[in-house]
Amino acid sequence: MISHVLPTYNRAPIAFEKGEGAWAIATDGTRYLDLGAGIAVNVLGHANPDLVAALTEQAGKIWHVSNLYQIPQQERLADLLVDHTFADTAFITNSGTEAAELAIKMVRKYWSDRGEDRIEILTFEGAFHGRSTGAIAASGSEKMTKGFGPLMPGFRTLPWGDLDALKAAISDRTAAVMLEPVQGEGGIRPLPDADLREIRALCDQSGALLVLDEVQCGMGRTGRLFAHEYAGIAPDIMMVAKGIGGGFPLGAVLATEKAAVGMVAGTHGSTYGGNPLACAVGARVMEIVATDAFLAEVNRKAALFRQKLEGLVAAHPTVFEAVRGQGLMLGLKCKLAPADLVKAGYAQHLLTVPAADNTLRLLPPLNITDDEIAEAVARLDRAAASLD
Ligand SMILES: *Cc1c(COP(=O)(O)O)cnc(C)c1O
Repeated sequence: MISHVLPTYNRAPIAFEKGEGAWAIATDGTRYLDLGAGIAVNVLGHANPDLVAALTEQAGKIWHVSNLYQIPQQERLADLLVDHTFADTAFITNSGTEAAELAIKMVRKYWSDRGEDRIEILTFEGAFHGRSTGAIAASGSEKMTKGFGPLMPGFRTLPWGDLDALKAAISDRTAAVMLEPVQGEGGIRPLPDADLREIRALCDQSGALLVLDEVQCGMGRTGRLFAHEYAGIAPDIMMVAKGIGGGFPLGAVLATEKAAVGMVAGTHGSTYGGNPLACAVGARVMEIVATDAFLAEVNRKAALFRQKLEGLVAAHPTVFEAVRGQGLMLGLKCKLAPADLVKAGYAQHLLTVPAADNTLRLLPPLNITDDEIAEAVARLDRAAASLD
């Protein structure tokens, strides 16, 4: 008999009832060190007092109002996002896949308003943009699309990071190029800064819009507020979600005025998107994360963590191949199935996340402490030793 919860996930037999910072506490009282953070969501850890205060304060006032009215909390979040990024405007969503949908709509509307028949969006293998019909078409992967056809047309998937393939594919018929500066689900694969600059230049030459998906790599995860900042370039449209709500469902599409020009009244909407509860929390997350001092700490801790992980890889050459990633978006390329390591991690009361390309993902809360980093590596060491 089918489970009452639609069985689309293979779940570990662990349930958590509360959390404290980098620790998730199971119903049996076991404390797990959380290097998954709900897949890069809990950027400030579990039950962060600032975020609990922002949420409960707003919860006592008003939860939901329609976007038929002005929503000051939403305006405040949009102000913060615009002030700290390339963007001139933001649409607030509830999730990453909703942000992908709007990004795709925005691209199509941009070209439609210019009277040009440009619908092809170039994407890359290993991409993950969410699970809506548009987002799975954008990813192109067999694993996500099989059985769900016919797929939304207008996407072409190129080999990851293959600039020659991009040069051959891009033309004055291309609507946009869409990619994650650091692939998350694809296996913590950062695109070199020089490549991102070249992609920007190719977009400029052809007129194609550059759409960056920073749902996983954004919000301070890589040590900059957004990963593309390392390359010194800016996209035309960017998707954000995961970390922006610190655990509350929230996402956004950021865009330049030029890219967003077609999105006039009536062209898009959302019942819940931009509600006061989510935006009160999101604004608080932005106030904390989008500061030089906070990001400097992320970088310092990332260097510490990475150094320790290099030692771990050297100590277990039969288990690990290499460390990769940027900031606190780290991956351990494995010589065995990462799912086995995730399981061995549970035995050490450590939470990690598998990814494609044989990679184990380490996405701790950005405010993890030095001691917790040392403890995490000790637990990873024991988990690896159990598989050596
Ligand atoms: C998780 C993710 C999404 C989808 O976000 P949801 O909130 O699960 O819809 C999109 N893009 C990237 C890069 C992601 O990591």
